[in-house]
This record gives sequence, C-alpha cells and structure tokens, in this order.
Amino acid sequence: MQVLVFSDVHSNLTALEAVLERETHVDAYWCLGDIVGYGPDPNECIERVRRLPNLMCVRGNHDAATLGEVDQQTFNHEAGLAITWTKRVINAQSMEYLLSLPEIEKYNDITLVHGSPRNPVWDYVMDFRTAMHMFTYFETRVCLLGHTHVPAIWQESATKAPTAPVLDFYKTKIMSKTILNPGSVGQPRDHNPQASYGIFDPDAMTWELRRITYDVSDVQKRIKKSGLPWRHALRLAEGW
Ligand code: ZN
Repeated sequence: MQVLVFSDVHSNLTALEAVLERETHVDAYWCLGDIVGYGPDPNECIERVRRLPNLMCVRGNHDAATLGEVDQQTFNHEAGLAITWTKRVINAQSMEYLLSLPEIEKYNDITLVHGSPRNPVWDYVMDFRTAMHMFTYFETRVCLLGHTHVPAIWQESATKAPTAPVLDFYKTKIMSKTILNPGSVGQPRDHNPQASYGIFDPDAMTWELRRITYDVSDVQKRIKKSGLPWRHALRLAEGW
C-alpha cells in the first residue's frame, strides 16, 4: 500500500494541487493537520482534502484555533491575524469538517498526530532529545507527525541525531521504532521552498520524502489580494 503522508497545507491550494497532481497513484491519504492558517485558500483546501479517498486526517493547532478552541494569544501576531481572517471567511461546511477531526488516528502499527504523541495538537518535536523522550508516549512502531514544517526521521535505535532528509527521493527502510515528519506542503521552513511530503508503505515499512516545485507567485497574488500579512507571502519564496 502506498500512502501519501502530508501535513501543514496551511491554506495553500497551489502547493496542495501540485502534490496531488503528481501522486495520483497512491492508495490512501493521511493528513497530519493544519489544513488552514497563514494562507489564502482555507475553504478550497478543506474541500480538496475532504474529498480524497481513503483519507485519515487529524486536527492541528491552527485548525483548533479556527474552531475557537484555543486562545489566539498563544500564536505570534501575524499567525493570529491569519486566524482572525480565516475565521471571517471560512464557511459552515469547512467548520463542520474541522470539528470532525480527531486529535489522534491509528492504522495498525502506526499513530498519526499533528504535534506529538504526548500532546497531539501542541507539542513540537524539533530536536533529537525531544524525539527520544516522545518514544515513551506511543506504543506503535511508527508515529507520523508534522507541526514543525521541517522533514525529519527520528529512530529510537539511533545513537546520534540524524540529519533531516531534505533531498529528493530519500528512501528509508523503517527498522526500529520511528518518528517520521513529512515537512510542510504549504509553508516549508527548511530553507527549501518546494512543497514537502512523504510516500509511506506501511506493509513494506518504507518511507520516501519527496519535494515538488509549485507556482509560489500564484499564492502570493492571492495573499496580497486577501489582505493577509505580506510576510506570509515572502517566506514562501525562501522556505522559512
Ligand atoms: Zn503548521
């Protein structure tokens, strides 16, 4: 089985379409949250994601904030502005869909969360020490998570911090308990502006990170038109 694992679309329909148009062969779609926030296309992205076949999707912190479930003060100023904007334009069906999203999903020996298995919506797993600590919080062999917008592979058996795999077509066989992060489709932060996602085979236990270039200027135009902070447009061109 080939699964497209993606996270942090952040209302960027152009990036999402580029990924989906390339990966038409997959058997299932697993989304790790934050469909909305930052970008100009919240309803369009939710509509596109919810129609995917064999979909599992969990709730991210921007999804929760859009639902009004968290204090917006916990976000930085510009992220907060985008949440206020998203709340204004989001339609009832989109809200209903976000509300339906669970914080954790499971498929056989795999756990899906947005942030971490300890605190599914909010924790960041940014570094080796944190990742090692998180292994005590899930029973399955693999935990898929996003939230950091930086692709990573953390293996429990590793003795030193592995480098984040940022190259195209990096394929890994999962040999031990592992945390996998596909990076972000709609707002990568590893200084590579290409949309980032993973192709996971839960039967063969293989993971492959993929990147794809998309038309950033197209999204920037819609950000400008919507009145969202221009900083959100600038960062897309450089991946920060
Ligand atoms: Zn995010």
